[in-house]
Amino acid sequence: MHRPCRLCGQHKKLCLSHIVPKSFAKRMKAGSPQVVEVTISDTPTTAKSNGDHKEYLLCEDCERHIKVCYEDTGTIYLHRKKGASENKEYIIIPEFNYKSYYLFVISIIWRASISSLDIYRPAQELSKLEPYLRHCIKENTLYLSPQGPKLDDFIKVSIARVVDLLDQIKQETLDRLLFSLNFERGENETEGLHYHMMLDGFLITASILPPGSPLASNWNTPGRLLDRRHLKAPKVCFSVIKPIFEAISAVPTTNNPFAPK
Ligand SMILES: [Zn+2]
Repeated sequence: MHRPCRLCGQHKKLCLSHIVPKSFAKRMKAGSPQVVEVTISDTPTTAKSNGDHKEYLLCEDCERHIKVCYEDTGTIYLHRKKGASENKEYIIIPEFNYKSYYLFVISIIWRASISSLDIYRPAQELSKLEPYLRHCIKENTLYLSPQGPKLDDFIKVSIARVVDLLDQIKQETLDRLLFSLNFERGENETEGLHYHMMLDGFLITASILPPGSPLASNWNTPGRLLDRRHLKAPKVCFSVIKPIFEAISAVPTTNNPFAPK
């Protein structure tokens, strides 16, 4: 199928591109054919799914560019937790590459924003920002122009380790929860848009804030990504993360993948 590639714009044969990298779904399935996928809406649902949402979006060269620059580091980093230390409050993982990980998260949101799949419809709200996201992903940069503002001035990424402090749900069950890009809107425009996804037992949030606003300059949410050589992610009990708690509570008790161990 020859169509313009959504990243480079060239008319080329397109690949069936995964929105959330294939390696995540593969790992979370851990040999079983399905993962547990949570969808948040007015009536949250939790269902077993093959987690395999894909669409013709990118040419082979652009697929490779995203894989090599972002996914290869991003998908492995949280899973391996190489050299990690942890205490009751935090997990700290060394050898963190801020730019690469940040753009890895942005690349997932960008692909969702250009996807026509129903499940990613909320990400279409990003259409005005899409050219900026595309530029940064294509050029492997955080800068919107050579001297100009940076993407991370107004799109903030934060990461939290999701645990069950009551120890009723196995960590491996939480780690296999594919919580694929759900959406939350502030009460008004100044509160921004917030996209959540859960991968490898970490809740990743991208908050799109009004550029230049006090909210963007003072953004100080726990677990926000900082340009440092290590990642420090606070531990958060799933029961205080409203969308996850609501979705898990919505599961019927029979055949409940979150049943206490
Ligand atoms: Zn391309």
